[in-house]
Amino acid sequence: MAELGDLYQQVIIDHAKHPRNLRAIADPTRSAVGDNPLCGDRITVYLRLEGNLIADVSFEGSGCAISRASGSLMTSAVRGKSTAEAEDLFRAFHAMLTGTAGTAATPAPLGKLAAFAGVRQFPARVKCANLSWHALHAALTLSAESVSTE
Ligand code: ZN
Repeated sequence: MAELGDLYQQVIIDHAKHPRNLRAIADPTRSAVGDNPLCGDRITVYLRLEGNLIADVSFEGSGCAISRASGSLMTSAVRGKSTAEAEDLFRAFHAMLTGTAGTAATPAPLGKLAAFAGVRQFPARVKCANLSWHALHAALTLSAESVSTE
C-alpha cells in the first residue's frame, strides 16, 4: 500500500508506537469521551485545569494508529496552554484537516501537528485524527461528556 508512506509520516509513526500522556488523570477537572464508530476508535480525554491554564492533560482508550498518534500529539501540544489557546489550536487543526479556511485572522501555528496534513486525502481517516480534538473541545466547553463522529 503505497499510500501508507504518505499517510503515516515519521512523527505519526513515532507517536502511534510510543504515545505520550496515555494514562488517566485520577481527579480530572473535566473529561470527555470521543467515539468514532466508523473505525472503532474510542478515547477519553482528561483535563486538569488551574484557572484558565491546562495544567495537565492525558488520554486513554483504544483506537487505530492515527487516533492514538493524534491523542499523543494533541495532549503534548495543549499542555501548559490556556483554554483559549487550546481552542485556537483545535480550530486550526480542524481547518487543516477539512481544507476549510480558518476563521482566525492569524491561525495558530500547528508545529508538529502539521504532520497530519496528509490525512486530508483520506476522508475516513480525518475522523480518526480529529477524534481526540473533538473530545478536548467537548471537555473544554462542557458541551457534552461524549462526542461521536457519526
Ligand atoms: Zn481510527
